[in-house]
Amino acid sequence: MANVEVRGLAKRFGAVEALSPTDLAIEDGEFIVIVGPSGCGKSTLLRLIAGLEEPSEGTISIGGKDITHAPPADRGLAMVFQSYALYPHLTVAENIAFPLRVARLSRAEVKDRVTAVARSLDLEPLLARRPRALSGGQRQRVSIARAIVREPQVLLLDEPLSNLDTELRVRMRHEFARLHAQLGTTMIYVTHDQLEAMTLANRIVVMSEGQVQQVGAPIELYDRPASLAVARAIGSPGMNLIPAQVVAADADGVTLQSEDGAQVRATVRGEAGAVVTMGVRPEHLVASAAGAFQGAVELFERLGPLSFAHLGAPGAMHTIVAQLPGDQRVTLGEVLHFDIAPGLVHAFGADGRALPR
Ligand code: ATP
Repeated sequence: MANVEVRGLAKRFGAVEALSPTDLAIEDGEFIVIVGPSGCGKSTLLRLIAGLEEPSEGTISIGGKDITHAPPADRGLAMVFQSYALYPHLTVAENIAFPLRVARLSRAEVKDRVTAVARSLDLEPLLARRPRALSGGQRQRVSIARAIVREPQVLLLDEPLSNLDTELRVRMRHEFARLHAQLGTTMIYVTHDQLEAMTLANRIVVMSEGQVQQVGAPIELYDRPASLAVARAIGSPGMNLIPAQVVAADADGVTLQSEDGAQVRATVRGEAGAVVTMGVRPEHLVASAAGAFQGAVELFERLGPLSFAHLGAPGAMHTIVAQLPGDQRVTLGEVLHFDIAPGLVHAFGADGRALPR
């Protein structure tokens, strides 16, 4: 079993609290993706689990065994870095074999394992090359091969695709999904790319300012973000976040009024007078002549199957992004109106937490 349990884990660098006391339970075989803005503590959490940083407090266990103070090599895990960290003077085969040689496996066993891993990652034709004769994607595959060749219980990946171009990222994303299905290894993957998070994760951990904000299946976080930080982290383009106030509350929900006077119903519970942030996803806005949201098109982005209109409302500080069908014709300056179903409106209190439903 390779479940990972983190209890009260914290890390301070002098006055900087990189990770506030954190609890996290990761199931055996789970694919966990950690997302959040730059500096939120994602890498610190991963490096603590890897044993590359000493915690200020708290404990880490793998498979029920306390490894808080175990050396990295004794934790039964392997890590893949953004920079690949391959040895330039060794061939691909030697790079992959390196951890097995360190572990003093027999020549025959090393050969068998390197061959098997190279086959599963399509690296067989490249085994005699040196890293400088490889493309970025091939180098990344070698670094993954080197990480999994010892059959770690847990695989840690720190932004493994961020140095690759868009096309390769998509291919490697599929590669990770396939690898996870094939190996069944517990994977903990740090990224700031929410598309990777949404498509790869069994569960996503959203972090902000050294704290875990929410843990859940991708669709849960998309449907019910528990805080503004999660609302910002999940969804592309991002949720429209609009300063608003609760102007009426009844048994069915509340009426929210945005700073430019637009009134919408939301099926959340709140008190009249409360200052909130209204959250509206671009893809949930529906064109409607009498719709509450209106604005002149300031920018129009045509993506092919769909388009995004950026609307400026008179007297408002914010713009609203609305998703439109790809074939809709729009002229700059044209005023568009939109409505939204009350169940799809989000509202966050002054403390940034979502209002209850
Ligand atoms: P990014 O996405 O930019 O990699 P991150 O979410 O991985 O960011 P961390 O690298 O975990 O963030 O850093 C969290 C905080 O801790 C940051 O404020 C960072 O400056 C600080 N920090 C990280 N490592 C150190 C260190 N060795 N010494 C001092 N401060 C550090």
